[in-house]
Amino acid sequence: MSFPLNRPRRLRRTETIRRMVRETRLSPDDLILPMFVCQGRGIKDPIEAMPGVTRMSADNIGIEARETFAAGVPAVILFGIPERKDAIGSEAWNDNGPVQLAIREIKERAPEMCVITDVCMCEYTDHGHCGALAGGEVDNDATLELLVREALSHAKAGADIVAPSDMMDGRVGAIRHALDTNKFSQVAIMAYSAKFASAFYGPFREAADSAPKSGDRRGYQMDPPNAREALREVALDIEEGADIVMVKPALPYLDLIWRVKEKFNVPVAAYNVSGEYSMIRAAGRNGWIDEERAMMEMLISIKRAGADLILTYFAKDAARKLSG
Ligand SMILES: [Zn+2]
Repeated sequence: MSFPLNRPRRLRRTETIRRMVRETRLSPDDLILPMFVCQGRGIKDPIEAMPGVTRMSADNIGIEARETFAAGVPAVILFGIPERKDAIGSEAWNDNGPVQLAIREIKERAPEMCVITDVCMCEYTDHGHCGALAGGEVDNDATLELLVREALSHAKAGADIVAPSDMMDGRVGAIRHALDTNKFSQVAIMAYSAKFASAFYGPFREAADSAPKSGDRRGYQMDPPNAREALREVALDIEEGADIVMVKPALPYLDLIWRVKEKFNVPVAAYNVSGEYSMIRAAGRNGWIDEERAMMEMLISIKRAGADLILTYFAKDAARKLSG
């Protein structure tokens, strides 16, 4: 059946008809807002490379989380910026560290908000790598112990979900075991399963002050051309007990979101990373792009590719637009 019998334009004629045949819908329920939490009180520092995003102390995180929940976003993910860094990142398991304090603030001000915490060492180590170093390389097995301490401290503070982002082998299993043997079997794991060594993380490193002082992360994060390896990583994480798996970044890896979704039966998250955010903000500010339309198109493309959950700095703006 072809033209002139078949005219696909008939179903694109009016907004009402387009609404009726729309295949993918984005909902505020799909969104997770990443937040940067620093030490102190009353702090709200703009991050230059990420217009509209700020670093906040725990008290302001609590207020912001309440507004975000009211806008319809069900979850936040917290990244800590400690005052003190050392070789093994020991501030990461300080029970009164920025993330731990922020979890308690959020639970007080927005008790129904799902609180996810990023579990990694790079914000806490003085060398900026995602684990303990041995001979200039990140020592996988020694790092597992540090990640376990951090995850337990987050669970103790009340985190609903812990999200290891370090890409060490065996971390999901180690964290699952530690949670289960410490009475935190209800705490879920969202694993950064296919996390690529990407140039799109640039603005985040300013935000979290987490750039490696020497070398790069290619020895543990994934090589961008590899897709089959990404599927192996996802399979391993599920085997080790991941409840949710993640592909990061989102836009340059939409094919992988699709393949992970097709192959596995667990919820798939995608991280719409800082570089993806800042490109749209910057072009919007220069009048080169319609910022709001580009934001919505980008988010719907990630959803269409198969993501059940989207971590995005646009979460609050998008949720407001969706319920607007
Ligand atoms: Zn890291």
